[in-house]
Amino acid sequence: MKTCYFCRGAVSPGHIDHMAQVGTQYVLVRHVPAEVCVQCGEVYLAADASRQIDEAIANATNAPEHLTVPVVTCP
Ligand SMILES: [Zn+2]
Repeated sequence: MKTCYFCRGAVSPGHIDHMAQVGTQYVLVRHVPAEVCVQCGEVYLAADASRQIDEAIANATNAPEHLTVPVVTCP
């Protein structure tokens, strides 16, 4: 059983939503394979997650869904 590098908690396999910055744009990549610490929430991307993220970003202009997000700045 793999444990968390930071808190030694149990790490469980699953999927995450990953926000990537591409230039001045952001791309939300859903369902990225990763392992998540059940104790502190630290995320460990799976071995080929980076490749999958890169491929998803390369196809981002053809994404079936586009979000509009509010942008706020701390005072
Ligand atoms: Zn942890």
